[in-house]
Amino acid sequence: MSEQVVIIGSGPAGHTAAIYTARANLQPVLFEGFSVGGIPGGQLMTTTDVENYPGFPQGVQGPVLMEAFRAQSVRFGTRLLNEDVTHVELASRPFQVASAQHQLKTNSLIIATGATAKRLELPSENRLWNRGISACAVCDGALPIFRGKELVVVGGGDSAAEESTYLTKFAAKVYLIHRRDQLRASRIMQQRVLHNPKIGVLWNTVVEDVVGEELVRGVRLRDVKTNQIRELPCGGLFYAIGFTPNTALFKGQLELDAAGYLVTQPGSTHTSVPGVFACGDVQDKRYRQAITAAGSGCMAAMDCERWLTEQDRVV
Ligand code: NAP
Repeated sequence: MSEQVVIIGSGPAGHTAAIYTARANLQPVLFEGFSVGGIPGGQLMTTTDVENYPGFPQGVQGPVLMEAFRAQSVRFGTRLLNEDVTHVELASRPFQVASAQHQLKTNSLIIATGATAKRLELPSENRLWNRGISACAVCDGALPIFRGKELVVVGGGDSAAEESTYLTKFAAKVYLIHRRDQLRASRIMQQRVLHNPKIGVLWNTVVEDVVGEELVRGVRLRDVKTNQIRELPCGGLFYAIGFTPNTALFKGQLELDAAGYLVTQPGSTHTSVPGVFACGDVQDKRYRQAITAAGSGCMAAMDCERWLTEQDRVV
């Protein structure tokens, strides 16, 4: 027997798609993966205060917000499978979606697998991960290990600008390390960085490795113009070098753009395969907000329901 709709992903996009499809009696099955996107619930699970999600005038903690999303989709009958999807087959219908323990057939598929923060893959990175290295200043910057320390942020985009500015609330000094001599960040964000007396920008510089035994004690830097190596003492290293969309499962089966994001038809959530819809950060490199992800999850559910109804009409 085929499911009506399977949803892959458990962030705001996936759960909103589940709430809408469940209320439309489509009995959705939602895969809450954990190894690719981090932990079930997506990027909000590693976010502290969410202050821009409408409806929460005092702000809300990311994990609290996601638990509410999840409870709401369960309340309307969404079946949750706490497993990573390992394979999809989209060449013919019904589509097939496989995990270690399940092999489902489905008439439609909603993809909400999100995006993952990029890492530098430094030699000592795994050893010191969460011991002074983080990919989210906003999530971790207020931790005691970083307070009053000199901190390093890597990147030159809006995230790097935003995160280094944010870290000045807690740090003694922030070094922004950028591999070129010009920031990619928008002008207003650049100005905030360049005019902040607590931020020093190290241009044309890359991080070769992170130094420390139990905790980060410094970074080894290389000047890309002179190849000179030097060590900069610091108490924390934050990555802000962009995101990778979680689309490995769909390569060769769905159209991806040059950066690997799923391509959707403008103004809709239809992908290159009829009956497969995409929502949230996996198809959005521009807005990447919880509210836009949730909005596009609603769109995917409505596109999906309409498409399934049209298929019935054709049969
Ligand atoms: P991004 O714009 O792709 O910038 C990534 C930065 O990391 C670039 O400066 C890049 O250097 C650098 N980088 C990438 N790989 C690297 C590596 N291996 N080693 C060293 N440096 C590396 O990513 P983002 O800053 O996360 O922004 C993504 C999107 O979200 C953008 O559209 C941005 O405008 C938006 N955003 C907006 C806001 C806001 O408006 N408040 C905040 C955050 C993000 P190069 O410049 O040399 O390529």
